[in-house]
Amino acid sequence: MSKPHILTVDDDPMVSAAISRDLRSRYGADYRIVRATSGAQALDVLTKLALRNQPVALIASDQRMPQMTGIEMLEQARTNAPDAKFLLLTAYADTDVAIKAINDIGLDYYLLKPWDPPEERLYPVVDDLLDDWRRANPDHNADVRVVGDRWSDRSHDIKTFLARNHVPYRWYDVERDAEAQRLRDLAGATVEDLPLVLVPEGDTLRTPSNLDLADALGLRTRAEQPLYDLCIVGGGPAGLAAAVYAASEGLSTVIVEREAPGGQAGQSAAIENYLGFPKGLTGSDLTQRAVAQVVRFGAEMVLARGIVGFESRGPVHAVLFDGSGEIEARALIVATGVAYRRLAAAGLAELTGRGVYYGATASEASQCQGDDVYVVGAANSAGQAALNLARYAKRVVLVVRAATLENTMSRYLIDKILSAPNIEVRYRTEVQACTGDGHLEGLTLIDRDTGGTEDVSSSWLFVFIGASPHTEWLGPDVARDEKGFIVTGQDLLRPGYAEHWPLARTPLALETSVPGVFAAGDVRCDSMKRVASAVGEGAMSVYLVHRYLATI
Ligand SMILES: Cc1cc2nc3c(=O)[nH]c(=O)nc-3n(C[C@H](O)[C@H](O)[C@H](O)COP(=O)(O)OP(=O)(O)OC[C@H]3O[C@@H](n4cnc5c(N)ncnc54)[C@H](O)[C@@H]3O)c2cc1C
Repeated sequence: MSKPHILTVDDDPMVSAAISRDLRSRYGADYRIVRATSGAQALDVLTKLALRNQPVALIASDQRMPQMTGIEMLEQARTNAPDAKFLLLTAYADTDVAIKAINDIGLDYYLLKPWDPPEERLYPVVDDLLDDWRRANPDHNADVRVVGDRWSDRSHDIKTFLARNHVPYRWYDVERDAEAQRLRDLAGATVEDLPLVLVPEGDTLRTPSNLDLADALGLRTRAEQPLYDLCIVGGGPAGLAAAVYAASEGLSTVIVEREAPGGQAGQSAAIENYLGFPKGLTGSDLTQRAVAQVVRFGAEMVLARGIVGFESRGPVHAVLFDGSGEIEARALIVATGVAYRRLAAAGLAELTGRGVYYGATASEASQCQGDDVYVVGAANSAGQAALNLARYAKRVVLVVRAATLENTMSRYLIDKILSAPNIEVRYRTEVQACTGDGHLEGLTLIDRDTGGTEDVSSSWLFVFIGASPHTEWLGPDVARDEKGFIVTGQDLLRPGYAEHWPLARTPLALETSVPGVFAAGDVRCDSMKRVASAVGEGAMSVYLVHRYLATI
């Protein structure tokens, strides 16, 4: 790929020279810095770059320019630089207009002038924007290649595993791509060997397990030490936050995640209510940032391994891996979150992973290009999925059991859904049956009031209908409510749970009925089920771990 471009736009020659100089000194080795001194000239440059198929990573524009403002120019720039990040240089008086541009034109960031010193005020912002751009526009030469059948559930699982672990991959469908046939022949693979995974400079993997894949990709799948101060089970927002705080405060820390870091949040296409990100951010972006922090502070992260058992052994707690192996730790944080509830519709189980999915990732959304897609659910996760899918699908139908979304979905999402031209909401409706030969081809919808049914054609059904906690592995000592959520803190003193608590002192706020074992995030009884609260509980649980460790 040729060097991507950074375009600066400013009508003041001194400022234009200064921003270009600052950007060139830091990014000149990897990016070509181009200058324009008016909005019209900038649009002209972008047209020429588009014709030559040259990538544009960032446009940094002044807001106040004669003839055309920065925002007016950026709005038009989207046509020829659809993936570029937009940075607006503003005066304090333009703050309101810049904030509005976040929604109106997808402005990524506004920076108040002057930006001196650039090391503190300019480069951290531009680093972030360029990192995001690089992630969305990877260098495909380094990709893992996956060859398989698009309706095979193992192909789907492998693609999900790679995407959620942020491993760039290219997908080749044996039914549609000549290159898939060529790679399959080269590997001498039979139908039983599919999916194949070709790792750069590695072996060709045939129907690999997640563990095989993780090992081949060099991900850590085993703990280094036999005993830690703290073991965290679950690498969603709660677990990752706990790992950052624990490791940064000097506790030897290991975190175990069986699928991919990020948990449910990692699958969210747009988290818009997380503090500090006014434009919202994707779950994948949040996860990458969190994982970088975990690694930077030195917590160990064991991936693609599930925990299937728990034992208290005097002052230490042990968690047991699936397969073989265990970890001992002086304190344990359970941050295993929840799993989606299954939809009870005839024929659905056989088609799960073959057109029927629980949760939607960005990679699936883009495959729905031009299709009719059905989404079941009425909570925020269903709403976000519908909006994300609507960017690609011809039409998205949101199937809702209730007569309204008001009681279950945030107002801002309802507004977006109702104003989206290609989203239809079908209230008082359920999916009664799914049909398809090898993959989903049609659905039967039933009207809950009249009992009338309708058959519709679709290859895509995404289900978001609530969740139950991942706590079955904890055994009987850790008290849970009737749905399996972990009871903590003062709630343990309530009738029905009090007999589980063994000590004279009262339990700490997030402590479970086993002293030294804490629960954080969605897995906890009465938790708020939001990213911010999971992160908050993860951080808080580390403070409580310190208090607990001081008592033993
Ligand atoms: C599609 C979607 C969109 C969402 N959007 C938003 C939003 O915009 N804003 C918002 O505030 N909230 C949102 N949420 C909710 C939010 O994502 C959750 O509240 C949050 O992720 C909970 O974090 P957690 O760490 O407690 O659990 P989880 O995110 O569920 O993470 C738990 C992790 O533990 C792992 N695990 C489970 N069992 C084991 C085991 N036995 N061994 C090892 N690992 C295990 C799982 O693989 C998982 O990675 C969304 C949820 C979904 C599904």
